[in-house]
Parts: sequence; structure tokens; C-alpha cells
Amino acid sequence: MKKFADIAIAIPIDRLFTYRVPKTFKNKAEIGERVFVPFRNRDIIGYIVNFKDKADTKGIKEIKRIIDEKPIISKHLLELTKWISETYLCSWGQAIAATIPGVLKKGKVSVKARAGTGFEKIPVSTETSPHTLTTEQEEVLKSVLFKIEKEDYKTYLLHGITASGKTEVYLQAIEGVLNKGKTSIVLVPEIALTPQTVERFTSRFGEKVAVMHSALVGSMRYREWKRIIDGEAKIVVGARSAIFSPVKNLGLIIVDEEHETSYKQEDVPRYHARDVALMRARLSNCPVILGSATPSLESFYLAGKKRLELVRLTKRIDDKDLPKVKIVDMRMELATRKKLVMFSKILIDSIQKALDKRQQVMIFLNRRGFSTYVNCKKCGLVLKCKRCDSVLVYHYETKSLVCHYCNFRMPPPDICPQCRGSYMKYFGIGTEKVESEIARLFPRARIARMDTDATSKRGSHARILGEFKKHNLDILVGTQMIAKGLDFPRVTLVGVVNSDVTLNLPDFRASERTFNLLTQVAGRAGRGEEGGEVIIQTYAPGHYAILSASKHDYEKFYREEIKTRDELSFPPFKHIIRLTIRSRNEKRTIDASHKLKDFLIKKLKDIEIVGPAPSPISKVRGFFRWNILLKGKNRSIMCQALRKALKAYRKPAGVILTIDVDPASM
Ligand code: ADP
Ligand code: ZN
Repeated sequence: MKKFADIAIAIPIDRLFTYRVPKTFKNKAEIGERVFVPFRNRDIIGYIVNFKDKADTKGIKEIKRIIDEKPIISKHLLELTKWISETYLCSWGQAIAATIPGVLKKGKVSVKARAGTGFEKIPVSTETSPHTLTTEQEEVLKSVLFKIEKEDYKTYLLHGITASGKTEVYLQAIEGVLNKGKTSIVLVPEIALTPQTVERFTSRFGEKVAVMHSALVGSMRYREWKRIIDGEAKIVVGARSAIFSPVKNLGLIIVDEEHETSYKQEDVPRYHARDVALMRARLSNCPVILGSATPSLESFYLAGKKRLELVRLTKRIDDKDLPKVKIVDMRMELATRKKLVMFSKILIDSIQKALDKRQQVMIFLNRRGFSTYVNCKKCGLVLKCKRCDSVLVYHYETKSLVCHYCNFRMPPPDICPQCRGSYMKYFGIGTEKVESEIARLFPRARIARMDTDATSKRGSHARILGEFKKHNLDILVGTQMIAKGLDFPRVTLVGVVNSDVTLNLPDFRASERTFNLLTQVAGRAGRGEEGGEVIIQTYAPGHYAILSASKHDYEKFYREEIKTRDELSFPPFKHIIRLTIRSRNEKRTIDASHKLKDFLIKKLKDIEIVGPAPSPISKVRGFFRWNILLKGKNRSIMCQALRKALKAYRKPAGVILTIDVDPASM
């Protein structure tokens, strides 16, 4: 009987709301449809998740209108979103809202769909027809296809070094799924950074592919979503939210570069797309492939416990060697040359040699801007953002000091705002300075820079990569934007200006991120016939993350890192839930954090509670931030307990509480 309906609403209140189904709608109302319901003196959108005969409260209001003719959220996605709301602690309505295009959240019935991909095409070197697989690739494909055939849930961790042919395996597995009349979802990190990968799917499967990414304007996104729900598109390639695509008959999920932190959503619902992928595959009885050259500690650990099946690609296609990696100890450089230098002699010589041979070079530094801080030589003041606890970075192109957290900008002062002295000095290196120094040292080289500043104009990203591909550029300087997925066979040298930028971050994943990034960057060298070389400059040449990256030895890195994680009770040994208290007033923030901790101690038994302590960046956009960490072995027990506890929590006025389960960084 469809007398009453439980409605999920996308607001941060962790419950459902009951409404009466008017007689006239009884035949029309279905689970998974959008409705308009009266809520606090206005009409808002909700989603029907359940029907019932009885309502337990009085004064129940009626549903105003049913928006959809038929369900737009499948039973299957409802189940998935319910799991998300329980696992990442948000309301069911908030989780459901994350699965549909923005225009539908506003209650529209149909939208003028606009064609287009939202980003420019970038030339790819791959051909459209399948390759004859190597023996290693064949093995991997065979076991995945076996599970697809049997309609069995299973997670494979595909550990394959860069250019070992992982993507080709994905493509052929999808082909197999397609032949069975089933659909596939392929997750890739931040599409804007991996256009070449996306191209390979569209060039192999054409119109059958729907591409979902954040740069799509509303009407384009709706068009792709519609092609999926209507069954026209059989393969979805997209960033993390593509895991919610309304495909029917799912046969395979692929999570490429599964270690990427961009799979974690930073806003509500704060889900991890890799974990959602595993749950969705379980609900669909299909296999998942998690692929990476540098698997996350979590996944590799689970593989060791046989909870995932590890499959390997150990050789590069055509048996090409991995590039040789040299570590340059910049402390020695400092000692012998008696000054801080940006480039070691060996790096300069190698760049020159590559240029002489008409080869291409990539220079990597994971920090943008020109100088990274401004310091008064007289009184010692370091210029900071007024709204954030962060140091202002000098950007040469815009002649301004910029906050990298809130984008506050100001002209650089000539005199010190504290002591009125005129000794403001600029220190630290960003990509802008690297570019200008390279231009000075190699005046005849054609140079471009790629970071979020240089590519903020639409299309410039594609243009720079296109020019580099055509060899109209000799040297490309960039941040992590140039680390991922790019395939330029003429690049024989990759230089890392300072590998310690990520290593020194206050984050338990700092070593992992450094290892991943160095491995990725190194993978850009030597993809062609001429081989390749990588030079890593560092002040910490003995660190295991740098040493094992230089030897392309993931397992050595894993063995070292897993020890540290165990000692410190970090993932994968314990799950972390981070509670952040924010307010505009420092004292109020601190007080509220301590009170919340006392409250949690009473409510949560057998869960380790750490803190409260200020966030690594303790103030952002005028909000002071303090954290409390919960640590425990069993995520679902922790989440259930916390969810229950928070129902009784009375938050002080003016304070914001956010909860992040399995945070990507600290
Ligand atoms: P990965 O995804 O591991 O980086 P790719 O799938 O991109 O590796 O493969 C690297 C290169 O080798 C690509 O240019 C791809 O087209 C090519 N390739 C992949 N598999 C084969 C194969 N079996 N035979 C020949 N070339 C291949
Ligand atoms: Zn700021």
C-alpha cells in the first residue's frame, strides 16, 4: 500500500521524513522518483525511498507533486547511497543528491541537452585497434574475464609498472563485457590531468562511451547522464562521481591509479570512490580492477591478506627498460659550491646533452609561484595571509603575493609592514622561478610551464601539451600536472628540482605521496626508443621513499612504510575518522573542541580518541580549525557508534562540525 512515503531530503539532518501520498498519485508514485514536499514553509525536493501503511506521527503533510514519470534512481543506487550515508556519516538524501546531475537536483524534468566534451582534444599516440597481448597481459585478462562470465564479485589489484600495458588490459576487458551485453565504469583521477587516457577509451569505443567530469557544464553533464540511463552509452569513463552512473547490467568496474587521493571527495558526502566501487561491484556481482604502478598501502595490505587478488605486470611493453634514476645530494652541492643553488651541475649538464641531441626534457617541482615566502631581513617578519595561517607566495606573472589556500592577493610591499624597514627579501623556489632560471641558462631552448596558474585559461592545458607533443617545445616545467599519464616518446630526461616538498608535509601520507609522485614523474622518461634518465635532487638522499623510488622498487617502499604505519596505528591498520571544529573565534573553537572530546569519551567505548589539536593549517578563510581523530580497527562499528552519539550532541552556536571518515590527508 502506498499510503505514506519515506522521503530522503538533501539536508544535513540524519533521518527520513514521512509524507502522505495523495490518492491521485497512488498509481504514479514509485521508489526512486523525485517529489516536491512542503518543508518548513517552502517546497523542496525529496526522493521517495520507501512506502508504508502507517505513520507514527500526527499532522503528516501531503506530497505536493511527483516530478518524475519513472524512477531516476535505481533500487541498486538507493542501496549504495544508503551505505554511503552510514559509512561517511551524512543523510541519505545528501548521498542520493550526489548521484544525479545538478539540473535534476533543482527539480527540472527535462533539460536541453548540449553536445560536447567540455575539454579540448589532445593528440594521442595510440591506435584504435586492440594489440595482441603479451603473456602477462593475457593472464590478467583471462582471470578477470572468468569472473565476468561467472557474474562473481571479486577485486583484483593490478600492480603494473608504468607503461606495462595496464590500459590495454582495461580496454580488452571492457570489450569482453561489451560482448556480453553488459556495461562498464572506468574511474580515472581528475580528468583534466589525464586527457590522454580518456582519449584512448573514446577512440577505441566511440559513441558507446560517456565521459563524466567536472568541467562539463550542466547541460552537457545531463546529456551524458541521459545517454547512460537510456542505455545508449555502455561505458562510462569519469572522475570519482562517475561511480554513481545509472548504468544497468554492470559487468566491470575499473579504478585506474587507485592510489590517487583525488578519489576522496572533500565535500559532503565525503566518500572514497575506490571503496564505493567495491561496494557497488558487490551489489552488482561483478569484478573490480584496481590498477596502479604504486598501489595504496591499504590495497596492497589487503592483497597480502588475500582479501584482494594481486595480479602483476612486471615488464614494460617491448621490454623497454625503466629509466635510470640518479639521486643528487643537494647538501653536497651546497658544500662544494658554497651557496644554495636551484640546479646541480649534473642536472644542468644532462639538460644540455638532451638539448644537443634534440631530445625533450621535463622539469618537475611540486610548488607553484616564484618565491615561496617573503621575509624582512631586519625584524624577521614572514608575510602571511590575514585570513589563513599560511605564508604568502610571490607570483611574478601577476606581480602579486598570493595565498594558496584562499587566493587572497596583494601587491608586494616595498617596506616591512611591521618595522617599516626596507629589507624585504624573497626566498624559496616555485615553478615560475624554475622556468625563468631555465630560460636564463638555456636561452635558445623553447620552454613552457604547466601548473594551475599557467593553465587557468580554457584550452591552454591542451595547447601546451599539443605543442610539446609536436616538439615545438624543448623543455616543459611543471607541477604534478605533468607527472601523470602523459606519454611523450621524445622525453629522455626528467629532472626533479626538489623531491622534499611533499616529503616534509605534516601528513602521515607524506612518504607515500612522495614515492608515488617520484615514480609517476620518473615514468615520463624513456618511453621512446632513445631510453631515458631521471635526476632527483634532494636534501634527504637516504630517505626510503626516495631510495626505493630511484630503484623502481615498490615492494621495498611498502615494507618500510607499512612498519611506520603499524607503529603509529595509522591506515591500513586503523581507520581514522577526523572531526573538525571550525569557528571565527579562536577561543570558541578550542573550547568547543575540548567539550566535544569530553562528550565523545563518555559516548564512545573502545575507540581511541586523539586530540583535540589545531589542524596543520590552523586557520583558513578566517575560520580557526581544530581536529579530533578517532582511530579504530572496524570502520562500520566506529561509524555506527559515532552516528548514534552525534544524535545527542548539542553543537555550540557559531561552530561548524565536519566529519571525514578515512580522510585523504591530515
Ligand atoms: P600503462 O597503462 O601500464 O601505462 P599502456 O597500456 O598505456 O600502459 O601501454 C603502454 C604503451 O604500450 C601504449 O602506447 C600502448 O598502446 C602500448 N601497448 C600496450 N599493450 C601492448 C601490446 N600488447 N603490444 C604492443 N603495444 C602495446
Ligand atoms: Zn588566505
